[in-house]
Amino acid sequence: MNKRYSAQKMMIENSLRKLNHPTATEIYEDIRKDYPNISLGTVYRNLGAMAEAGEILRIPMGDAPDRFDINIHEHLHVLCTECGNAFDSESDDLEDILEQVDRLLEQSTGVRIESRVMIFKGICTDCRNMSE
Ligand SMILES: [Zn+2]
Ligand SMILES: [Zn+2]
Repeated sequence: MNKRYSAQKMMIENSLRKLNHPTATEIYEDIRKDYPNISLGTVYRNLGAMAEAGEILRIPMGDAPDRFDINIHEHLHVLCTECGNAFDSESDDLEDILEQVDRLLEQSTGVRIESRVMIFKGICTDCRNMSE
């Protein structure tokens, strides 16, 4: 791994810590404030490599651009459709339930479940309070 790659990775990790589950474009906009020479392609390439290596989490958003997470612990995401914020849910109970769901799916389809793509959507507390 060369030095240049590490420096870019470090900038991306800083952005990921600062922003709430950002998209590649949001990370790019953030880094560009300090390093105007960085390209969106470079950010994409690094994010792809980091996700591939398991250093960060890629969150598929279906019809919206993927988001990225510095927290690689297995957890669920809940998205507010009003403000666009993503919320983490880490719960052992949920993990148990999901494993049961995996087993039921395996029984009904014969497919051995290896990963899940799940995103929950709703309206967060702040947005609910604002509309009251
Ligand atoms: Zn909200
Ligand atoms: Zn997360």
